[in-house]
Amino acid sequence: MTMDGLWYTEVWAGQGSAISLKTARKLHDEQSPYQRIEIYETEGFGRLMTLDGLVMVTDRDNFIYHEMMSHPALFSHPDPKSVLIIGGGDCGTLHEVLKHPITEVTQVELDERVTRVAEQYFPAITASNHDARAKLLFADGIAWVASAQAGQFDVILIDGTDPIGPAAGLFSEAFYKDCWRALRPGGILAAQSESPLFHADLICTMHKAIRTAGFSDVRTLPFPQCTYPSGWWSTTLASKGATLDTLREQALSTRYYNPAIHKAAFALPQFLREQLDARVSAP
Ligand code: SAM
Repeated sequence: MTMDGLWYTEVWAGQGSAISLKTARKLHDEQSPYQRIEIYETEGFGRLMTLDGLVMVTDRDNFIYHEMMSHPALFSHPDPKSVLIIGGGDCGTLHEVLKHPITEVTQVELDERVTRVAEQYFPAITASNHDARAKLLFADGIAWVASAQAGQFDVILIDGTDPIGPAAGLFSEAFYKDCWRALRPGGILAAQSESPLFHADLICTMHKAIRTAGFSDVRTLPFPQCTYPSGWWSTTLASKGATLDTLREQALSTRYYNPAIHKAAFALPQFLREQLDARVSAP
């Protein structure tokens, strides 16, 4: 991250590119036990939250990420009642999950300060934090899932940071095995899977690890996210036994997601399909 005058710039390491957002002022800066949390007021994207200098949330475009992290998984399940979110400290994914008639959602976020700072600066996405169905825990999600009761959840959403530091284990086969165990039969996992353009290797590695962990159907859904590296992001869905081809249509107040987006998001760009075919499907 560099701040050049009024411009906040996140350099996309190794990619010869960067994103810059024009800021009006810095609202918050703290070092939590886990990471540096900063909030800026920007001119074009409303408020911006960064963790260790990387863009996490802006007012203007977070709805795309949070809707795609939640609704494709929830609408692919016939009757989701119990949901687990790992990470997700800004609570945008939680807010979308709570739009569904679920019974309970447990969120396990490593860093309580991310949630408290989000509550202070992002009232819209944290508005549901006191919903009686939501249980917010602050712990390492990897260790938490390892000791979770088997067959407890219908849907697990992995809304973590990039695969470095405490989030590296969120991309491991051992973690996916624990998620598989914690899901009921027919359960669905959705994990944020970085940029199709910049991180196709990681997406292939994730597919292999998720399949080896026992999941039967694994699909990556790309979507636009202009403030994340390459401006393009993805979620990878996987099912414990069932198919991901079933879409349950139900009216919901959204700004990006709808049934047509759901169906279209399953279409893979040719380069990614070829890479997955060569590296994952090959015997
Ligand atoms: N939208 C973001 C992205 O893709 O860049 C992710 C947002 S969310 C703020 C990511 C959260 O994952 C952070 O708050 C971080 O503290 C949390 N996290 C990282 N590793 C974790 C772990 N092992 N267990 C639980 N939460 C974790």
